[in-house]
Amino acid sequence: MLEIQNLQVSIKDSNIIKNLNFSIKKGEIHAIMGKNGSGKSTLAKAIAGHPRYKITQGKIIFKNDDITSEDPEIRSHKGIFLGFQYPVEISGVSNIDFLRLAYNSKQKTLNQQELDPLSFFQMITKKLEAINMDDSFLNRYVNEGFSGGEKKKNEILQMSLLNTELCILDEIDSGLDVEALKKISESINSFANTNNAILVITHYEKLIDYIKPQYVHIMKEGEIVYTGDYKTASLIEKKGYDFFLNNGQISSKLG
Ligand code: ADP
Ligand code: MG
Repeated sequence: MLEIQNLQVSIKDSNIIKNLNFSIKKGEIHAIMGKNGSGKSTLAKAIAGHPRYKITQGKIIFKNDDITSEDPEIRSHKGIFLGFQYPVEISGVSNIDFLRLAYNSKQKTLNQQELDPLSFFQMITKKLEAINMDDSFLNRYVNEGFSGGEKKKNEILQMSLLNTELCILDEIDSGLDVEALKKISESINSFANTNNAILVITHYEKLIDYIKPQYVHIMKEGEIVYTGDYKTASLIEKKGYDFFLNNGQISSKLG
């Protein structure tokens, strides 16, 4: 589904991602871990097409299309969703209006049917049930006064509404307590299926524990330096990142 070849990304002339190769197939869940500043968010934004992150070399292929120089809107309509670490609050706009606008804008670009408020309400109600979210959310202003966990859940709702095929969740677990983290993980797990793929970026073992990605990658200074399975996260917890970074050969045997 996603293939990144030889990617190099710079911000304001400084080279952040270097020669990065990595691919995700349908039905897979991948995680990227790494110290602060290792380039995880830069990678996420480059995949989503953030204009400030310049791709100076390499390619991003999504569903067999080269999207390296495509606008973020087009990437999003093609099925890529980037969840934010700190989702924005939009005062004065109700969540249901916002969601319908997002949905209809995608439908329009795909030449598919847009929904009137009533049909949209019926559809979104089913989606809410599926991810175990209260429908009182719909009439509140977008993210305003939402708890950390509610904001993240709202992002999962957007992914599910837009039938996202590649979900990139950048530190969706930051600022959540254990209960909220567990609920979000359950929502992610119920969203995951054989037709989509999920890339989570996280610092914490707990999220990895709950969603058990098939692959855990460690990033250092803009490169993926190690790939293992979900057990990698507990090793990082025990031994720290430097164990992997300084003992490449030993650690790959453990992985
Ligand atoms: P991570 O998400 O792994 O913590 P980032 O991708 O946010 O790392 O950052 C990687 C490097 O890129 C850091 O050195 C950071 O200072 C730099 N960087 C990220 N975003 C910007 C930006 N908008 N402007 C300037 N430098 C940035
Ligand atoms: Mg980050």
